[in-house]
Amino acid sequence: MARQTRSSEVPVAETLLQELEAERRISEQRKSDLSQSVRELNGLRSFGAAVNERLDSASIFDVLHEHLPVMFDYAALFVLSLQGKPQLFCCTRVPLDAEVLNKARQNFVINCSYMAGSEPVPLSEIEIVEDRTKEVFSGHDVDGGGTNGGGEILSHVTLPLFSGGDTLGGISIVSRRKAAFSQRDIQLFSLVSYQLSTALRNALLLKQTWEMAVHDQLTGVFNRRHFDERFQEEFRRSRRYGHPFSLIICDLDHFKKFNDTLGHVAGDEVLQAVAKELQGGVRNTDLLFRYGGEEFCVLLPESSIEEALLVAEGLRKRISMLPDAALGFPIRMSFGVAGVTSDDAATLEPTSLLVKADKALYQAKTLGRNRVCLSIADEEPVEADISNLERR
Ligand code: GH3
Ligand code: MG
Ligand code: MG
Repeated sequence: MARQTRSSEVPVAETLLQELEAERRISEQRKSDLSQSVRELNGLRSFGAAVNERLDSASIFDVLHEHLPVMFDYAALFVLSLQGKPQLFCCTRVPLDAEVLNKARQNFVINCSYMAGSEPVPLSEIEIVEDRTKEVFSGHDVDGGGTNGGGEILSHVTLPLFSGGDTLGGISIVSRRKAAFSQRDIQLFSLVSYQLSTALRNALLLKQTWEMAVHDQLTGVFNRRHFDERFQEEFRRSRRYGHPFSLIICDLDHFKKFNDTLGHVAGDEVLQAVAKELQGGVRNTDLLFRYGGEEFCVLLPESSIEEALLVAEGLRKRISMLPDAALGFPIRMSFGVAGVTSDDAATLEPTSLLVKADKALYQAKTLGRNRVCLSIADEEPVEADISNLERR
């Protein structure tokens, strides 16, 4: 016999249905939260993997530019690195009014300086490393706004970048929407900033290690090891493209006398003053190295022998104008110049170019020092006729 439905069973069934519906909603929410978490973790994992492979700040900023839009919805991203010369990375995902952008940048720099416990760094002193603000974005409408209006910045998340107790700078995402970033966004962004801090710190350590490996400790100019690398590199480049390439080797005159009479500390000071003077006298494209002891050399890519002779003469004059060292010892220097010409570009070996410059230097010493000599082709080196060159 069929069971009779009692009237009291109806509300029970309704309640059960409501409970089931509530359970279903919770479970849907959990599923959606879970898939959001998986998306966030995947985003974070691939950002972390990519950023840890990068060894310099410019390519670290490229990774940010590539990965962050997948993880957050923002109008612009700023990163300030206060390591060495301040660098600001700035990238917008929507065209922002220039004034709005400038104000946002300025606020960001003020916030970062505040977090680092320093005075705000003036924007004019900051190098803008990457600026993608002029990129045109089409189609996908991000940050809840159209692609036309500038739109005020109404919310931001700004966090410091630290590593090993130092504040390296800061990172910020900004939006034209009010309260655009959820608690979850802020948590995720703090994990991003942590990974970024570590990557920037490693890049800095690597840069410092490289700086130490290629610079001479006493004078601060490039060292012999770096010369060997750059010389081969520039030589190959000049041969491949058939471009001129010159080399100057210079050596202090009677330097042993300085050490013997004034002592090594005074000798070191002379070497430092000479390196500074040489560095001030070479062009931006030329590279100065301490070749050994009191010998320096200059690589002049894309420069003919004539140009190198003029640089060498300029350096000789600068050095001879240095004030005399103690006891009235005059500081003077001799120079040897050689270069790759179009005639010998295909056949000359790097070592032969070095030998030629060295022979020219030896000739300058033999002829009485404090002068510039040059080696041309296979001929004996001769003193350069600078006045003739200067007149040209
Ligand atoms: P010349 O005009 O023929 O070049 O004579 P010179 O006395 O300069 O040449 P020499 O090669 O005989 O002496 C070079 C001196 O440079 C010897 C060495 O004591 C000194 N020297 C090399 N490296 C350093 C350094 O790092 N510090 C100091 N103070 N002296 C150095
Ligand atoms: Mg010498
Ligand atoms: Mg010497």
